[in-house]
Amino acid sequence: MTTYSQKLKDPRWQKRRLKILERDNWACQTCGDTEETLHVHHLWYEDGEPWDSPDEALQTLCASCHETDSIERAESEKTLLDVLRRAGLDGGDVHALACAFQYLRLPCDVDMCLFIFGIEIFAGTKGSRQAFIEASKAVREARLKVARLRRS
Ligand SMILES: [Zn+2]
Repeated sequence: MTTYSQKLKDPRWQKRRLKILERDNWACQTCGDTEETLHVHHLWYEDGEPWDSPDEALQTLCASCHETDSIERAESEKTLLDVLRRAGLDGGDVHALACAFQYLRLPCDVDMCLFIFGIEIFAGTKGSRQAFIEASKAVREARLKVARLRRS
């Protein structure tokens, strides 16, 4: 059986990793650092091998940001669910929100604040389909703005 760390030595992963580092201009996508050791982080895993992940699931992080993400991720996810509950969202709302974000296909490097912003708008406008559509549009526009800023 091949362990995960052995798989990361596989030439297919090494090739994939280089492609992502090139895409991200050899800079941490959280803090912009180019000096520290860089890792290619999986935002999520698909079925299959580490190199089978789509580009948008992979992100260049410096060793420090990667470690911070590993430590804080689980806690942040718990907080997010708590925020959703306290905002009064029920299971159906959470499902709708998940579908909306899946549809919007937010790039993985969009700041979490943007995501929370969308949730707040949604929570504040709960019950109005039109308001939810408006909130989705606002999030999409913000996403495009971030993409434009990143290109310039
Ligand atoms: Zn960093």
